[in-house]
Amino acid sequence: MKNLGLNEIRQQFLDFFESKGHTVESSYSLVPQQDKSLLLINAGMAPLKNYFTGAETPPNVRMATCQKCIRTGDIENIGHTARHATFFEMLGNFSFGEYFKEESLKWGWEFVTEWLEMDPNLLWGTVYEEDDEAYAIWRDVIKLPEERLVRLGKKDNFWEIGTGPCGPCSEIYFDRGPAYGCGAPDCKPGCDCDRYLEFWNHVFTQFNRDENGEYHLLDKKNIDTGMGLERIACILQGVDSIFDVDTIKAILERVEEVSGKKFGVLRANDVSIRIITDHIRAVTFMVSDGILPNNEGRGYVLRRLLRRAARHGKLLGIKGSFLADLSNTVVAVSKEAYPELEQRHDYIKKIIEIEEERFQQTLDQGLSILQADIAAMEEAGDTVLTGDKAFRLYDTYGFPLDLTKEILEEKGFTVDNDGFLNEMELQRERARSARGDADELGWEGDPLSALPSAVTSTFKGYDTLELTSELLAISTVQELADGLTVDNAPIKARLVLRETPFYPEGGGQVGDKGVITSEDGAIFNVHDTKKGTGGMIVHVGELEKGSLTRGQTLTAKVDQNLRLDTARNHTATHLLHKALRSVLGAHVDQAGSLVDPHKLRFDFTHFQHLTPEEVKAVEDQVNAQIFAPHVVETFYSSIKEAKEMGATALFGEKYGDVVRVVKAGDYSIELCGGTHLDNTSKVSALKITSEGGVAAGVRRIEAVTGRGFYALYKKLENQVEKTSEVLKTPQHDLIKKAENLMEEHKTLQRELQELKNKLAAGSIDALIAGAKNIKGMNVVTAKIDGADSDMLKDIGDRLKDKLENAVVVLGTPSGDKALFVVMAAPGAIALGAHAGNIIKEVAKVAGGGGGGTPHMAQAGGKDPSKVEAAVKKAIEVLEA
Ligand code: ATP
Ligand code: MG
Repeated sequence: MKNLGLNEIRQQFLDFFESKGHTVESSYSLVPQQDKSLLLINAGMAPLKNYFTGAETPPNVRMATCQKCIRTGDIENIGHTARHATFFEMLGNFSFGEYFKEESLKWGWEFVTEWLEMDPNLLWGTVYEEDDEAYAIWRDVIKLPEERLVRLGKKDNFWEIGTGPCGPCSEIYFDRGPAYGCGAPDCKPGCDCDRYLEFWNHVFTQFNRDENGEYHLLDKKNIDTGMGLERIACILQGVDSIFDVDTIKAILERVEEVSGKKFGVLRANDVSIRIITDHIRAVTFMVSDGILPNNEGRGYVLRRLLRRAARHGKLLGIKGSFLADLSNTVVAVSKEAYPELEQRHDYIKKIIEIEEERFQQTLDQGLSILQADIAAMEEAGDTVLTGDKAFRLYDTYGFPLDLTKEILEEKGFTVDNDGFLNEMELQRERARSARGDADELGWEGDPLSALPSAVTSTFKGYDTLELTSELLAISTVQELADGLTVDNAPIKARLVLRETPFYPEGGGQVGDKGVITSEDGAIFNVHDTKKGTGGMIVHVGELEKGSLTRGQTLTAKVDQNLRLDTARNHTATHLLHKALRSVLGAHVDQAGSLVDPHKLRFDFTHFQHLTPEEVKAVEDQVNAQIFAPHVVETFYSSIKEAKEMGATALFGEKYGDVVRVVKAGDYSIELCGGTHLDNTSKVSALKITSEGGVAAGVRRIEAVTGRGFYALYKKLENQVEKTSEVLKTPQHDLIKKAENLMEEHKTLQRELQELKNKLAAGSIDALIAGAKNIKGMNVVTAKIDGADSDMLKDIGDRLKDKLENAVVVLGTPSGDKALFVVMAAPGAIALGAHAGNIIKEVAKVAGGGGGGTPHMAQAGGKDPSKVEAAVKKAIEVLEA
């Protein structure tokens, strides 16, 4: 057996299948494209589904890949089994309706025995119990002795998910020797022990399972195989677990270094070391594929893995952040096969750093709150953490629910899941009502999706904004209809035409609006256009008058002005994208985009806010390109040619063979399906209206063009005109005037303050003159009009400075209330004064109450007319 590195095995596998006429494709993104049923790619075949179903044509009927996979379902296994990772690579060869069982098994055998030189005597084969065909191939073609050929049942060797294509499997196992085994006399593949390791599964999709559970042979039979790269490496390298495989071991050793804890000393530490090793691989690859940590979907998986790793770092005693550093090792050992890791290295590190730091800030606090919760539960004999507590940890301290669950599990406790979901729903509810955005055109449960797949539409809107075409389908919000007639109120409906000039929402560009009419007077207002299932273009709107019948010919007319506004914003978006890259750097990638008639919104990867100078530079560059001007061309090309021309493709997106290219002179070239201007000058001008952050490492720019630009200009013009009127100054003198006014304002304020000081000094003198001596205390009582409590205290302080043993009792009417402050100097306190006691009596006179310390007290009263009498009360109190 050859001892090969993980990277070498990958290459050997792909070379082998290339030599067998397979087209080798690089790994698809971890993010499924156009497949809403899947959160993350979990098998080599997942991104190829459309080739298997025939919905798309593959580049070749034979393909081979090494596919990045994530299986969150295996997360509990990490650190506990030798063979599971959340991120792993799957080697696979695929046949789309071409070769079948014999070639697949024969080549599999050839690869492992001849290329990898595995000992044939240690290899076993399994087949599905009813698959005599596969059994015969193993026995007669490969000549595997029958004692090493096992028939297994449906559970192990039949692949199916509900209805649809399915079929038997055949697996190759490696015998690691009796030392790993359970010792049972009938131990063989299929046994639960560790002796026989499954490493390559060949799936023969030969049936279609119908609703009644019956299997029908397919005309086009497919091959889909999957071999875990880490597992085969583990076998070839003769090591016990996938964590001992060369590349992964390098990461594990780095974890040991960073934590100062050795693997193999303490079981609890071992689990943490493996979890960190595994999760940092997953995290690095996910970020490199454009996933960002957040609270939903893929982003949540990423956040959960990252935070889980951070917490295990804490368990190992690591201080502070360490994951970004570890990702260096992941990149170093994987960049050969995944050059994008190196290209995006800085970006990946930054995102990990930001997310980890954010969590570190709340991790300790959250953990101690959870510890306290646990202690309280133990005392009360509870074992279930309430939903609101789990939600608080989630919402305020960033603890993914699964992390909370996991920590509780260590104590044998659980979380009230429903309670948590309930809190979550309540919060959503609050957010929703704050936004107040019920989607009137709600797109869930679309009746049109029940139509046969033959109903499709052709988009003609690149070349024309008006055409006549056949009405293929009508649906109301609830159901399909053959016809529709307006009685009195307009009817909400959706229409599908054979051909349409209406652009369906996509690529960040909103759907077109406009009107569809019939010759006999029907008017359907199109509020939005969407892509329906299976190639339909759906016009969403209201039938305002008349009636429609399926099969009828209608005239569809896009609102020209709105379309042009949108095109301005879309073409400007391309210019902006390019300008951002040239001003900020090549790390700028599109992270989201919205183009509508009113504005453009562009999200992109960048780590800090743009300085005003950068914003100006970007704006200037875009406008220079608008004025250049550039002719905008759109054409179709092969993806290869487009890339050679330097076209910007969206990161992580896989494109079909033929792509649409939008090119603005030599300045910008992008793959894009949107509707554009034919010349940049038609943008007219662009103005950035805002710049801000939306997520860690993602910035957002909003801008206006064309009519939006003009509207903005008019608004500013109006502001300047108004200002000019108010200041009675011609516009060209406004700045000078503003400067002068500010200068004057400053001088006036200074003078005012001086006057106030003088006035206060004068009145302080008057107050001192009026002080009464009571038992050695100098008592000042006064009503001061127009004061607030700060002013009263200020006067009190000054009096205390100037008068020995001062007791100051001040009051002021304040609207329909009264305010009092009493202060006593230390000398007066020594003589028995107590501000808090005095104020009680004083405030009572004005119908109020209050209190304070011996030095200082404040109170309010209900009757402002009693201030005078109230402060005088202090004299009585002190004399008594
Ligand atoms: P297991 O029972 O060990 O979890 P599986 O039946 O889920 O494996 P398949 O769905 O047949 O595996 O996937 C094909 C191959 O991918 C497996 O033979 C294995 O080599 C590899 N594989 C599957 N899951 C993992 C994982 N979590 N980590 C590493 N490799 C895996
Ligand atoms: Mg599994």
